[in-house]
Amino acid sequence: MGPGPSDVSPQVLAAQARPTIGHLDPLFVGMMDELKQLLQYAFQTNNAMTIAVSAPGSAGMETCFVNLVEPGDTVIVCRNGVFGERMRQNVERCGGKAVCVDNAWGEPVCPTRVEQALKQHPEARFLAFVHAETSTGALSDAKTLCALARQYHCLSIVDAVTSLGGVELRVDDWGIDAIYSGSQKCLSCVPGLSPVSFSERAVAVIKQRNSPVQSWFLDQSLVMGYWSGQGKRSYHHTAPVNSLYALHEALRLLAAEGLQQAWQRHKDMHQLLAKGLQQLGLDFVVAEPYRLPQLNTVYIPNGVDDAALRSRLLNLYNLEIGAGLGELAGKAWRFGLMGYGARRENVSICLQALSEQLQQG
Ligand code: PLP
Repeated sequence: MGPGPSDVSPQVLAAQARPTIGHLDPLFVGMMDELKQLLQYAFQTNNAMTIAVSAPGSAGMETCFVNLVEPGDTVIVCRNGVFGERMRQNVERCGGKAVCVDNAWGEPVCPTRVEQALKQHPEARFLAFVHAETSTGALSDAKTLCALARQYHCLSIVDAVTSLGGVELRVDDWGIDAIYSGSQKCLSCVPGLSPVSFSERAVAVIKQRNSPVQSWFLDQSLVMGYWSGQGKRSYHHTAPVNSLYALHEALRLLAAEGLQQAWQRHKDMHQLLAKGLQQLGLDFVVAEPYRLPQLNTVYIPNGVDDAALRSRLLNLYNLEIGAGLGELAGKAWRFGLMGYGARRENVSICLQALSEQLQQG
């Protein structure tokens, strides 16, 4: 019950253990076509450029920035935790100019401030923000932010590493242009893959670049030769065959449950956990309307030894909870309820273990 990797279901682990076949084998190519459709479902998009990057969420982040941002481009970057700041670093490494819109840790991104920045910077080409800030547990209003991006003629770049599969997310309806996620959070797959999706507008920007994408590996125009359908695949890199089996199975399970049902399950488990945490006297870092169901951050009570308590949970109950990150290091705990981990028995074990161990300080 940490901030990821989350629990992986036995079915996904079994899928990963199937025999490795060639990554251009017709059977594997067929599986990749299905995987693409399953990803389109998870993202709620018809975007043709929807694939899984063969590397973790950070590579999905880089894929979006290196393909879209060219030297001299202005990007409005929203920072309300660790991962917004990483977006800024990506922009600058691409030679872009980052205009930062800051919110305090624990707060969502403020659309009013974003609009002010968009008004002040008519030259901005992109708006980048984190939908679900894993460092704090705050959910931002992606629908409103993406509508603002469109209104001010910007493309939106959205971090959905922690949101995909855990809370409502609609790429096409909300007009998201570039989005990346991770396999290891609410999809409950093994770590090491990053689903990404680009709208037609984003693909047009990539096609019209003045300079080549500086990363050969992440250049989408090359990668698409491998992922595009109709069996005409050309070698780009050796795909992580077994991890892709696992992702296929994880997404199949998500589709079998249904996205709305999965979102609801995360909400229900969060409500159970939140009630129990509050009964134990723990206070949430994030105000109720903006709390992520899949990532519950509470302040550590005075007098409790953070590391000692977490290690007792791990050693005595086999239970992992997350430490605070960045500004919240040593001040907060993060309880993940992600994917297969968002289950009633996990909530009960966690609350029981905490109640026993908090008494010891
Ligand atoms: N963005 C967010 C919001 C994250 O939570 C994470 C990882 O926790 C990342 C990006 C980076 O993903 P990864 O650790 O898979 O590279």
